[in-house]
Amino acid sequence: MKIVMFSAQPYDERSFDEVLQRDYVSRGFELVYQKVALSTQTVALAQGGEAVCAFVNDQLDAAVLETLHGYGVRAILLRCAGFNHIDLEAARRLGLFVARVPAYSPEAVAEHTIALILTLNRHTHRAYNRVREGNFMLDGLLGFNLHGKTVGLIGTGQIGLATARILKGFGCRVLGYDPYRTAEFAALGDYMELDVLLAESDVISLHCPLNDATWHLIDAARLARVKRGAMLVNTSRGALIDTHAVIAALKSRCLSALAIDVYEQESQLFFHDRSSDIIDDDVFTRLMTFPNVIVTGHQGFFTTEALREIAETTLRNLDC
Ligand code: NAD
Repeated sequence: MKIVMFSAQPYDERSFDEVLQRDYVSRGFELVYQKVALSTQTVALAQGGEAVCAFVNDQLDAAVLETLHGYGVRAILLRCAGFNHIDLEAARRLGLFVARVPAYSPEAVAEHTIALILTLNRHTHRAYNRVREGNFMLDGLLGFNLHGKTVGLIGTGQIGLATARILKGFGCRVLGYDPYRTAEFAALGDYMELDVLLAESDVISLHCPLNDATWHLIDAARLARVKRGAMLVNTSRGALIDTHAVIAALKSRCLSALAIDVYEQESQLFFHDRSSDIIDDDVFTRLMTFPNVIVTGHQGFFTTEALREIAETTLRNLDC
């Protein structure tokens, strides 16, 4: 079987090659890398493949899936947890097998979440730039202890739970909101209704999937219920927050700071020439003007351990 792997950023080839050589080459599997994101413009590169391996920034709408089906592709192997970017109804209609990696090193994203909280909290990003310019003054860099603070986690699945475990080590009070409650989380934190969590948390961190029910979960109405001066962290999916409403909340100091690893225009930015799009993208540009906002480029998952687990599970899904 020939698998065509689309990859705008081909950083995971090494982990895939290792697993392929170890377990799959002897069984007749071949992996071909295409160093671009999958889209209507690049889909022709999948010709000759029986499976396509795709990531969060790949375009998997009905048009692309129909073209893939026409080329004889039978399986879509998502090497990510999220599946909000694939038209599952079209895949079902076309009889395409779709698999994802539901779990891989939740600690990778949890640790990145903590890194973002601590960076904002102690203004490390600003201190780093200052010291490089020879400025050792501390004005504007006053932080607060995370110890003793209340952190509200929206979504208490694998990443929310891993984040809660670390936060308990910091001596935080951990709150959780999730329509599906687990005993594991309840042993670490207190489940609350969403409005209560928003009103009581010093730090609010999002760990739920993006779907019709969670799109713009954090909108102007919910931000009005947030404890004044709370910090917001989003390492899940960009469209969980209404970025315009969040910018207004930063301006009014309803939010004291924002850290995002994901943002609403992410797939749009991934598909185009980043340099020109970022400059033209009004919301993104406005966000970057706030000193109390930090943005990372969807790197929460990006650890050696997570990449290895992703490769293992993605290829093991072929056995289904
Ligand atoms: P998971 O499925 O283990 O947990 C998600 C939790 O969200 C579940 O417990 C679910 O019940 C809960 N949930 C569903 N709807 C909700 C709602 N309306 N409000 C609150 N909670 C709700 O998933 P996970 O592995 O913990 O991943 C969480 C999210 O993190 C993923 O959906 C993905 O978007 C994101 N993620 C980001 C990165 C990254 O690199 N930044 C990497 C992996 C995953």
